[in-house]
Amino acid sequence: MTTTFNDLGVAPDLASRLASRGIDEPFPIQVAMLPPALAGRDVCGKAPTGSGKTLAFGIPLVTRISQARPRRPRGLVLAPTRELAGQIEKELTPLAAVRSRSVAAFYGGVGFGHQLNALRRGVDIVVATPGRLADLVDRGDIRLDEVDIVVIDEADRMADMGFLPEVRRLLDQVRPDRQTLLFSATLDGDVDVLVKRYQHDPVRSEVRATEEAVDLTEHAFWAAPRELRTELTVRAIDHFGSAIVFCRTKRGADRLTKQLGAHGVTAAPFHGDRTQQQREKALAAFMKGRVQALVATDVAARGIHVDEVGVVVHHDLPADHKDYVHRSGRTGRAGAAGAVVALVPPDQASEAKKLQRKLGMVPGTSTPPPPVLADGQPVVRAPVRNDVVPGPAVKGPHHNPSNDQRRRKPVPRPGPPRRGPGGGGGTRRTGTRSA
Ligand code: ADP
Ligand code: MG
Repeated sequence: MTTTFNDLGVAPDLASRLASRGIDEPFPIQVAMLPPALAGRDVCGKAPTGSGKTLAFGIPLVTRISQARPRRPRGLVLAPTRELAGQIEKELTPLAAVRSRSVAAFYGGVGFGHQLNALRRGVDIVVATPGRLADLVDRGDIRLDEVDIVVIDEADRMADMGFLPEVRRLLDQVRPDRQTLLFSATLDGDVDVLVKRYQHDPVRSEVRATEEAVDLTEHAFWAAPRELRTELTVRAIDHFGSAIVFCRTKRGADRLTKQLGAHGVTAAPFHGDRTQQQREKALAAFMKGRVQALVATDVAARGIHVDEVGVVVHHDLPADHKDYVHRSGRTGRAGAAGAVVALVPPDQASEAKKLQRKLGMVPGTSTPPPPVLADGQPVVRAPVRNDVVPGPAVKGPHHNPSNDQRRRKPVPRPGPPRRGPGGGGGTRRTGTRSA
């Protein structure tokens, strides 16, 4: 017998709403966190991307909070990025509607007007980035003194992005006997301080990368001369249909977007110099399959949740293993197979080895540089599958060999590089099942 949401104490009306979206078997983080959170305890969950944290806190929120008065929300979710806040709002809104509760997201980059109207009517659950919420509090548009439940989502990313002082300032304004739910991929350093200071005897749970979340993702490091990186990225996108491509700098991302366009790949830049509207447009086009690739920087891409991204390409190597995990979490989400390709220029071979060691992979398993065809065109011998290249593919940190043959895209074949206009790229779903 598998556990059901009912077994965990989730009310039938909410469980059947979830079931209508095909969600009927709780993920491990939900199994661990729902009973204590529904009972009013503080919880502290360590779980990787794609493990189902949103419902782990969303169900208790919707279940336990009462109706808000104007400007005084009863539930508060703090999230590191606008995109993530927007996606949490989207996932929780239909669930909250079952109990006639309202959800609204507040983040920078969009005007205040619409948000203020919502607040004046009363918003039961506020989802916000720390900066925007602080603005609203400072302006007197929102008061946190009636918040009963606070959720701190992706606390490690908030720490990485320098938001913790702001988060602490906000938490200090919430009544001390509130319930606090904290989720993070890592629980060390600054996050631990947050737990000790703002949580009361929390139930702790660590969910390792599960089969659903990570194991289906295959990681490959391709030895790639710098001048071939664009071509290799094009091949990866062509093969997998869609990609999120990472660059270290905004200018690099702009440049690569243009180069991909010249190779017939439809791509959109996604970084901090783009306006909120431009980013939303790019994300929407990507989800609909009108754009094959988002070319992103690390900070901008945090918290983007798009199911069925074909491949994540590290066009530039990440700064460290944490960024590698964050970036790679954009694929292979919630049971879908994913592929991750990192391009390793010769002068960064030792950096790549260090990265692999920290990730628990076998270091030094970059495959040889892709050969050049007689006509001078480079060819990717994709090491993603071991039937093309003799060199070993690199397995992810929690690889389970029994998954090898499941739902995996077949091997890319060497062939002439693609010119011509872009096309194809299937549609992708947003992070919510109901979308
Ligand atoms: P996280 O916040 O941990 O990165 P999410 O909460 O965004 O992960 O969940 C990832 C995806 O999994 C979402 O599309 C969500 O709708 C889906 N999901 C969550 N819980 C379940 C479940 N129990 N069964 C099936 N799908 C689920
Ligand atoms: Mg999440």
